[in-house]
Amino acid sequence: MAYREPSHSHPPHKAAQKNLHNRNHTHSHASNASSHTPTTDEAENLSPEELQHRRRAEIIRKRQQEKWQQERRRRLIREHKIQLLAGSVLLIFVIIFTFVLIPGIFSSSKSSKKQKEEATQTAKAGLYEDKNGTRYQESDGRFCKSDWKEIDEAKYYFGKDGYMTTGWLELDGKEYFFDENGKYDSTKHRPMVALTFDDGPGKFTDKLLDCLEENNAKATFFMLGENVERFPDVVKRMHDSGMELGNHSYDHTILTSTTKDGVLQQMQKTNDSIEDACGVPADVMRPPGGSYNETVAGLVGLPIITWSVDTRDWATRNADNTYNVTIDNVEDGSIVLMHDIHESSVEACLRLIPDLINKGFRLVTIRQMAEEKGITLENGVDYNLLGEKNQSTE
Ligand SMILES: [Zn+2]
Repeated sequence: MAYREPSHSHPPHKAAQKNLHNRNHTHSHASNASSHTPTTDEAENLSPEELQHRRRAEIIRKRQQEKWQQERRRRLIREHKIQLLAGSVLLIFVIIFTFVLIPGIFSSSKSSKKQKEEATQTAKAGLYEDKNGTRYQESDGRFCKSDWKEIDEAKYYFGKDGYMTTGWLELDGKEYFFDENGKYDSTKHRPMVALTFDDGPGKFTDKLLDCLEENNAKATFFMLGENVERFPDVVKRMHDSGMELGNHSYDHTILTSTTKDGVLQQMQKTNDSIEDACGVPADVMRPPGGSYNETVAGLVGLPIITWSVDTRDWATRNADNTYNVTIDNVEDGSIVLMHDIHESSVEACLRLIPDLINKGFRLVTIRQMAEEKGITLENGVDYNLLGEKNQSTE
């Protein structure tokens, strides 16, 4: 209810009554109190008790006003929260840019200038040594990287980081040896070993392939036709990753104890299953038990590959033993006999493969090794070692 200015024509007691009414009204509807501004005339006509009431009403009115202002401020803050946030983010960026980036840009441009100056100052072509090795600097100040350099009739190779290579280097599938001074020695060839695995594939063969692939190593698998049919995907994987596929008969029949037809069947069925799995047949063979005679040799139609290092892994089933026999006996041209159907043999290989490589050996297939040694593999001929001592036991 709106406050009505008391009329002066009313008798004093009536005005007081009306004021009293209004005071009560002010208490219960404080929101209307702001419109109330008592005149001096009124104040003069009021009793001390009523004056006190007025003062109280005034205080309440002021508090109410403060409360509204506070609420208005809060509302404003709420409404402009996003703008405020964006503003502060912008401010932070400005600060970072001013104090961090600008000095950084200046200092880096200064240091690159300095580097250029240094390079032009020291741009005298030749070898430079530092704590990391030796580099070759060209006359334009740049360093020789991933490239050959002929200095005083000797050939050197500088790697990706610009440092001179020593020891063995494989480049585009070829092996190079550099002596301790970095000079290329064309007379040295890295020793090669052919790891071979019989009787598979089996359930551990994939694990062996993982390790061979990780180490960029190759091996040869002499497989049984019946196992090729059980694990065609593994055979496909072998072929795709550059392993050599060998024929080890269909079901491990000893070829000297079967008929001519038996030998031919064992060979043919296995070649067919290998070809079904990966598209190509076997290109080497190993007779079960290593047993063959002239008749068998004349029938198999593939080079006969035996071995120079027999791990006897099938008998010991001991990974440490297989590891030790191999590491202690390999030499350039060795053909190592193992069986990937035994977990202990695969376990041995997980250590052997990286360790043989660290010892300087290249792990290659039979065909690779023969090719690098200049040996032409002939069908029906037995090869048990492809080193300098050679080879055919025929
Ligand atoms: Zn066998």
